[in-house]
Amino acid sequence: MSFEQLGLSSETLQAIKEAGYDQPTPIQEKAIPYVLMGRDIMGVAQTGTGKTAGFTLPMIDILSSGRAKTRMPRSIILEPTRELASQVADSFEKYGKNSKLTMALLIGGESMKDQQALLQRGVDVLIATPGRLLDLFDRGQILLADTKLLVIDEADRMLDMGFIPDVEKLVGLLPPLRQTLFFSATMAPEIRKLSEKFLNNPKEISVAPPASPAALVTQRLLPCEAEPKKKRAALRELLKQEAGEMQSALIFSNRKRDVATLQRSLERHGLNAKALHGDMAQPARMETLNAFKNGEIKILVCSDVAARGLDIPAVSHVFNFDVPTHAEDYVHRIGRTGRAGRSGKAYTLFLPSEKKYLESVQKLIGFEIQRISLSDEAPSAEPVKEESKEEAQPAPQKGRKTGQRKSSSSKPRKSEDNKTQEDNAGQQAEDKPVDEETEKAAKSSKKPAAQKTSSRKGKSRKKDPELLENDESTSPFGEHTPAFLLRPVPQTASA
Ligand code: AMP
Repeated sequence: MSFEQLGLSSETLQAIKEAGYDQPTPIQEKAIPYVLMGRDIMGVAQTGTGKTAGFTLPMIDILSSGRAKTRMPRSIILEPTRELASQVADSFEKYGKNSKLTMALLIGGESMKDQQALLQRGVDVLIATPGRLLDLFDRGQILLADTKLLVIDEADRMLDMGFIPDVEKLVGLLPPLRQTLFFSATMAPEIRKLSEKFLNNPKEISVAPPASPAALVTQRLLPCEAEPKKKRAALRELLKQEAGEMQSALIFSNRKRDVATLQRSLERHGLNAKALHGDMAQPARMETLNAFKNGEIKILVCSDVAARGLDIPAVSHVFNFDVPTHAEDYVHRIGRTGRAGRSGKAYTLFLPSEKKYLESVQKLIGFEIQRISLSDEAPSAEPVKEESKEEAQPAPQKGRKTGQRKSSSSKPRKSEDNKTQEDNAGQQAEDKPVDEETEKAAKSSKKPAAQKTSSRKGKSRKKDPELLENDESTSPFGEHTPAFLLRPVPQTASA
């Protein structure tokens, strides 16, 4: 099937052509005609399937007739994270370039003032995280009586992150006569229940079996020793072995504090690695992400919250520094590579204590991940390097190992583990309003942005004593380090 057969306008078809798309993806083929008909959609599709265009393309045509009134957005797209919201905004700009539609991005950490000015003028599309949107509504800055089209994207993630009450509240504020497009990567019973609440006689569309891992990704498992230093050394060894094939890599860690520790460790070993996690201020997150996308940063150490759904075609490798405690996260993580027809590699470092998590991952993907061992012994503990003044922190918490975690349970996901609780808290903090002072300080390059995520919890600037777990500082790759992985040798690097 061609895009021309889907019923899109010539302006939108032109934008699609300019985006370089020849053919609709399955979700686009199935969803676009129904969205254009005005039907509600219950779409089961992962990121990477082209689902963003699946809803934005027909939305552009639907919205092209009509005008936005002041403070009354005509459509709303709800996204669980700022990065996803920002990514959808980019898609909207790309696909809507030949339309006259106006768009506002309303996400935590961005300046309220500029967004209010945009809303004041009237927007056709408002892309928002739920907390931020509710906050603006509570302040009386926005009216939802004219919102006739709603997209709830990544509903399963919204559920995981505890955003559903906010979403429910928002839906209750919208006119009952509207079109709702609901997308989720999985169709768990709770998600189905939610969809029934929000949707009216939806067209159900499913493009991939829930949680089927990317077919083009080679998956391997590396059993490791529990000691954090040894585990980090094993990771470096893997990076070294893969360096020849690596364009850029994402390294996932289950906890934010481990993200920071690991990133510093890699950097100290001369690797071009930066961190991306939920506690970073929005401008820093976007800056890091852009630098990664354009190749200035080769390795990004990140948490699940920060990296969920990101579309970065050149990621050749994904490393799971920890086995994710939720099996679906494994699928999402490895789905960051092997995109757009490229092949990719996904390595998971595994500790015996993570057996239970590994088992549920393997059950979900339907096969046992092939085990490997490092060709050379990974270097073990190394001398501890003195931290720079800036990094000087309280003593690390004794007795805590990076790879250790609470045993799993059948409790709901939200309360299962540290990662989710912390990241949820961080994310929720991110979606809460910023205070006046923070707003003044706020600036972003591309889009207006505030510097701080939340003043309520004071989380984003607080230093975590566990971030500075003593780290090894030597044993770089030495002369074998491929040039592209090397950044200018930092002052603190020992070799
Ligand atoms: P998404 O699942 O929306 O995150 O999209 C994943 C990637 O697929 C994005 O980089 C899109 O630019 C790309 N994409 C979307 N639709 C098409 C298409 N019809 N042909 C080729 N690439 C596409």
